[in-house]
Amino acid sequence: MASAVNKTAHPFTKANLEDLLLKRFFYAPAFEIYGGVAGLYDYGPPGSALQANIIAEWRKHFIIEEAMLELDTTIMTPEKVFVASGHVAKFADWMVKDTKTGEVLRADHLVKNVLNERLDRDKALQEAPADPKKKSKKEVIKPLEATVKEEYESILNRLDEYSGPQLGELMKKHAILNPGTGNEVGEPVEFNLMFASNIGPVGNNTGYLRPETAQGHFVNFSRLLEFNNGALPFASAQVGRSFRNEISPRNGLLRVREFTMAEVEHFVDAADKSHPRFKEVADVKLRFLRKEIQSAGKNDIIETTIGDAVSCGMVANETLGYFLARIYLFLTKIGIQPARLRFRQHMDKEMAHYACDCWDAEIHLSSGWVECVGCADRSAFDLTQHSKATGKSLVAQKPVDPPRIIHSTEPEWNRKELGLTFKKSSQEIMKKVEALPVEELEKIRAATDNEPYKLDLASGECIELSPKYVKIVDKTTKQTVEDFTPNVIEPSFGLGRILYALLEHSYWARETDIARGVLSLPALIAPIKVLIVPISSQESFKPIIQDIATKLRKAGISSRVDSSSVSIGRRYARNDELGTPFGITVDFASVSNGTVTLRERDTMDQRIGKVDEVISVVTDLLEGTCDWDAACGRVPAYSGVQAIEGA
Ligand code: AMP
Repeated sequence: MASAVNKTAHPFTKANLEDLLLKRFFYAPAFEIYGGVAGLYDYGPPGSALQANIIAEWRKHFIIEEAMLELDTTIMTPEKVFVASGHVAKFADWMVKDTKTGEVLRADHLVKNVLNERLDRDKALQEAPADPKKKSKKEVIKPLEATVKEEYESILNRLDEYSGPQLGELMKKHAILNPGTGNEVGEPVEFNLMFASNIGPVGNNTGYLRPETAQGHFVNFSRLLEFNNGALPFASAQVGRSFRNEISPRNGLLRVREFTMAEVEHFVDAADKSHPRFKEVADVKLRFLRKEIQSAGKNDIIETTIGDAVSCGMVANETLGYFLARIYLFLTKIGIQPARLRFRQHMDKEMAHYACDCWDAEIHLSSGWVECVGCADRSAFDLTQHSKATGKSLVAQKPVDPPRIIHSTEPEWNRKELGLTFKKSSQEIMKKVEALPVEELEKIRAATDNEPYKLDLASGECIELSPKYVKIVDKTTKQTVEDFTPNVIEPSFGLGRILYALLEHSYWARETDIARGVLSLPALIAPIKVLIVPISSQESFKPIIQDIATKLRKAGISSRVDSSSVSIGRRYARNDELGTPFGITVDFASVSNGTVTLRERDTMDQRIGKVDEVISVVTDLLEGTCDWDAACGRVPAYSGVQAIEGA
């Protein structure tokens, strides 16, 4: 049996986690030696490995599992693309300026922070009422009236719904000032979040760093469709960098100016948004926060299966529902705690300019609920816009069953006569006639040489059409296929936010010592899977270490040797901080009889076995075919555990 672990002995302390992450170089402010740049971070070795493992799992879970078409499109994008997509006009946030210092603040964040702060202060006051005798009259803080509290809570729940001018009104009504200076702020103004550049050395050729990877999928739609043999539905996927010139980057990786996204664009016929694999996920239970609840200023959760959520119409369609469930399965598989994950529907006024239904996967962190994945039904917006802007047809075809019989009335031209008589004007004449309504075509049919049909041209000239040039005929055609513009359903993952959320959800401190932080990252995504710890630096240990490292490498398991001179207990503690799930210790018994010990990170249990036996157990543990309890049944307990941990 594995030992019991108490992971909640100490309350979560963000500062301790942040110290650990910086000390172990998960990530750090970019350009730190130059003073750093807000919203830019570099990932160190464990952070990079963790991100690479999350991406590898994402690729397996989405791209490979669903046979998606993977893309790698450019970051630099010409302006025309973002004019068509609406980003030049609308990809903006509202900002306000401190009227005295000129400091810039994001309007909705200012309201949120100030109201939250007032509510927190009030709560603290309720819990420990201030002693008026101890303070000057001016300093006594009055409790908030119940109606004011209710109003603040309602505003906070609906904050995403407010427009810039409405935020401005809120600030005036509730006397919201810049908390840093106590100064008033000006009216909210829009600020476009895209980084602009110039493509090429000359001319006015504006380009933008993409704020999402999505447009790269849409502009390649026709090639993707052809690659997929013209068949729909299909999905394309891409992992890559995006850039947003955030007004006030904050909260570490949660709001940055450069980040990695993983996006799926699922192209589907609007007339049939069912999903062939929906049955597989129909019983997955999710926690939903509906738009109607939020608009009423509340935040009650409904917990139900995705099958029920789609059949009652809460989630717009099966494909959107399928992806919500797949997002849940992915996030929980990599270590997000299910009870701290919810799906929040966008309120109508909050929805992006392109979306017709949108749900965010929000993860609960020490700073509150944070959107980590957006999942939107973007309707036919994107392809329609790019088609309008380029004149290129971005459509798919589908069979018409049974075929449609179409009766039409059409002009049949005698091009030779037309050309001889009307020369250069022939094209204009044909175009004009082909655009005429049936009643006019009937008049042309009735025309004769003596009574021709009169047609005005753009030049002001009036020409006469008789049967010599054109006959009107009735046609019957059978339509077997038709064009349609696909709709797009888009799950969009911000990997930095997910990575940070994982770190918060995995972090805890040993009961015996709050300073001994542990990251219980699932083995699946842990940066390094096995730590090899030689107890001595003697030469005789080296071949055994080599042998273990080679065998692990051959089994596809990443390992690291820690032969530093610090105590073995310190080395284990350091690796607990890196989230390394297993340790293999090489000691004197390894040299004399080929045994090693196997340590499990969370329980600190140690077992003993021959090298091959231990590697076989580790391989099964990492593949998920065995858990630690089962492993304990395969290799016996090592009796020197306490001695080693305390060393
Ligand atoms: P959006 O297109 O705004 O729905 O964003 C999609 C995802 O990108 C979000 O769910 C976040 O995970 C991530 N994201 C958006 N903006 C930022 C940012 N400034 N910093 C980090 N991640 C972001």
